Amino acid sequence: MSIEKFTLEKVLSVHRWTNTLFSFIMTRPAHFKFTAGQFARIGLKVGDELVVRAYSVVSSPFDETLEFFSIVVPDGAFTSNLQHLQVGDELYLEKIPYGFLTLARYQLPAPHDLWLLATGTGLAPFLSMLQDFETWTKYQHIYLVYSVRTEAELAYVDKIHEIAETFGEGHTGFKFIPIITRDPQADLHDRLPILIANGELEQAAGSVLNPETSHVMLCGNPAMVDDTKEALKARGLSMNRRGEGNIAVENYW
Ligand SMILES: Cc1cc2nc3c(=O)[nH]c(=O)nc-3n(C[C@H](O)[C@H](O)[C@H](O)COP(=O)(O)OP(=O)(O)OC[C@H]3O[C@@H](n4cnc5c(N)ncnc54)[C@H](O)[C@@H]3O)c2cc1C
Repeated sequence: MSIEKFTLEKVLSVHRWTNTLFSFIMTRPAHFKFTAGQFARIGLKVGDELVVRAYSVVSSPFDETLEFFSIVVPDGAFTSNLQHLQVGDELYLEKIPYGFLTLARYQLPAPHDLWLLATGTGLAPFLSMLQDFETWTKYQHIYLVYSVRTEAELAYVDKIHEIAETFGEGHTGFKFIPIITRDPQADLHDRLPILIANGELEQAAGSVLNPETSHVMLCGNPAMVDDTKEALKARGLSMNRRGEGNIAVENYW
């Protein structure tokens, strides 16, 4: 991996949500322009080796800094080291952003209702999209669906409400729908594909998944992404290709 592809950026803050989830903010170089939903490639020196991983940007494209939301994989080459991150540390940032999980990919159907379905850290790109005013002007209805195992893993909930107030000011079509899969007392606690098949997700949203109007984005755990994709296809929705179709996905591993 050629080191010239990277700039060195400084960590400005670290927030730990649980033992296995944390967020960090780092400096953003002026040349690093991205579209909401894209990911950065972040590098960390482990001994002499530069270990690099993809990270969706949480921040708005208009922010002066870059925020990321990370899992800790106990034996993971990257995150077993990244978990010890401290303010003032330096990280490598590849100079260009990547990725096609952006709203610009949708041409047909025209924007009307947007369903953002995340598991765990797959929430990150959707936080960026929701911090872009254009998202709120384009869509009449926005459903943010966030599936985690336990309530403690529901990171960013206050921020989500804050974003909806700030960016969606006066927008009445936003709904935040949490799912807690290991809490049978939670309003929604089944896996997403089940909640789609049995109609509970639509009931919670107060709306229907409609092949004529819905844009549906899936991000996170590949098993969730695959099974949810199938559940949506069974409802007549199609994969978005060359601008046309309802479903766009990003797998994290
Ligand atoms: C396009 C893209 C965007 C990504 N954005 C993010 C992000 O914003 N935040 C983030 O934490 N990760 C993100 N990832 C995953 C990230 O690149 C690394 O896989 C993760 O940081 C773990 O690295 P590792 O070397 O410690 O473990 P790896 O060797 O990379 O992964 C080991 C195993 O850990 C599990 N795992 C990996 N990532 C996650 C995760 N995010 N949540 C739960 N389990 C996981 C999987 O079982 C995987 O096989 C993204 C991946 C892709 C492809």
